[in-house]
Amino acid sequence: MTGPGASYTNVEIADRLERLADLLELQEANPFRVRAYRSAAEVIAAHDVSVAELDDEGLTAMKGIGKDLARAVRDLVEAGEIPQLTALEREVPIGLLDVKRVPGVGPKRAITLWKSLGVTGLDDLEREARAGRVAALAGFGEKTQTKVLRGVEQVRAHRGRLRSVDAEVLVAPLVAHLADAAGVERVEVAGSLRRGRETIGDVDVVAQSDDPEPVMAALRTYRGVRDVVGSGRAKTSVTLEGGQQVDLRVVDRAAYGAALLYFTGSKSHNVELRSRAAARGMRLSEYGLFDLDDDGEPGVRRAGASEEEIYRALELDFVPVELREGRGEVAAAADGTLPRLLQLEDLRGDLHLHTTWSDGADDVATMVAACEARGYAYMAITDHSQALRMTGGLDAEKLARQWGALDDFEREHDGVTILRGLEVDIRKDGTLDLDDDSLERLDIVVASIHSHLELGRDAQTQRVIRALEHPQVNVLAHPTGRILGVRDPYAIDLDAVFAAAASRGVAIELNAAPQRLDVGDVDLMRAVTAGCTIVVDTDAHSVRGLEHMRFGVTTARRAWLGPEHVLNAWPLARVRAFLAKR
Ligand SMILES: [Zn+2]
Ligand SMILES: [Zn+2]
Repeated sequence: MTGPGASYTNVEIADRLERLADLLELQEANPFRVRAYRSAAEVIAAHDVSVAELDDEGLTAMKGIGKDLARAVRDLVEAGEIPQLTALEREVPIGLLDVKRVPGVGPKRAITLWKSLGVTGLDDLEREARAGRVAALAGFGEKTQTKVLRGVEQVRAHRGRLRSVDAEVLVAPLVAHLADAAGVERVEVAGSLRRGRETIGDVDVVAQSDDPEPVMAALRTYRGVRDVVGSGRAKTSVTLEGGQQVDLRVVDRAAYGAALLYFTGSKSHNVELRSRAAARGMRLSEYGLFDLDDDGEPGVRRAGASEEEIYRALELDFVPVELREGRGEVAAAADGTLPRLLQLEDLRGDLHLHTTWSDGADDVATMVAACEARGYAYMAITDHSQALRMTGGLDAEKLARQWGALDDFEREHDGVTILRGLEVDIRKDGTLDLDDDSLERLDIVVASIHSHLELGRDAQTQRVIRALEHPQVNVLAHPTGRILGVRDPYAIDLDAVFAAAASRGVAIELNAAPQRLDVGDVDLMRAVTAGCTIVVDTDAHSVRGLEHMRFGVTTARRAWLGPEHVLNAWPLARVRAFLAKR
């Protein structure tokens, strides 16, 4: 079925439902209703089939989606709006959603700021805080006001960012289009997208040609372009229909590597490279690495055609793009201690997978065949536990039936090792959503939170730590619950969680689904420092989801991880020993 609906992606639908939940929360609506919309948004964002193409029956078959939610989705898909959302948007200023997101504010304070100071967006909030009027409000104070001012900047920095997976979809046809332009020898994406950041702002593209104008023209006339911001001999900037800015630089062969290096960044990596060049009497720019002449002006070009040649001339090992963040990589490249980073081929299995036993779209046989096609030696079937009724989660009885079915399957099938697992819900009090006897019989227990995301920081931390203390738990899945661009992480003391996980032999998951990438690179580094083993899982709900592993690998590389840090890069016997906590 096609129609206007096909134009709504799952993420866009999830985004509307999440916004609906946000606005209801600002109206202090029933928390259960707010939660229902949030979990529906999560289910839809993670769904591998296009939800816009489902009819009522297909929608309500997603079980967490009741009749009201199905109606809302159909309204959006068919009429382009959800009437309830439109009504709410009229009552509550939409800018309050940004205000709510500012650390230290939250829904209640956002309402107070609106009603007492007329704050309807970030600009208002900043002005009022600078004038000292936020501190004067009851329950706010100087400390909160300072925190709010810092928070405004954070929220601004994150607004309008695109997930890397969505950016790829946007940029791939653009790059192909530019590569077809007359005289183009090479085109590459630079910037944060090349460095593998989980979200990106602007898109940087570098092309090589002796005749820039046809390439610039190709960008200016690209069908996805809304405005041409500027266009000259060296650079063209445009904004796309979705609002993202694209900057294209065209250089000749001798400067290509220098331009690629410069526009890949990060800024702090480049600053370190430039000062290293300066210390050697050279100058590094986007045109190359130059010796300085007697007047201190750039003279002979020492390198520039490739990044490799520039690093070599600076007496550095080549720095992989994912590491170029100014986190010590230049020093490591100087003394030959850059790590051997994880590669996709290192991974021998996937330990967090769903099937039609809960809310997966593909059955066991199909998932097994796909894991074998990827060359995996092992895989874990980890469907949801019963608390997630919306997913058709498994209780002890259904789990036993699944084991029977897996036994039958394995009698007929010889290939990848299938570990019996479960993604067990951590209840509000930190207990697990399955009896101890059943838990004990599982090969792998993946524990995670899908409800009560709004608990306070201490309560949430204690809840998770209590779950980790259960002797059968092996993995903590998607530890912050964030959905990029849709839902912020819940409040939790990750360092306390990592410490508990390390001491209990529980692995920390890097959920590779590109809408999650949970935990992110910086938190991953903290987990490893705390002594945690990491597991990179796709949490696939279909065969297609298995392909997301590469996003996990990119994030793992950004965290300096090598195969020794990653559970599913190990041979099966070592994995089994880890799971047995021996
Ligand atoms: Zn989950
Ligand atoms: Zn899962």
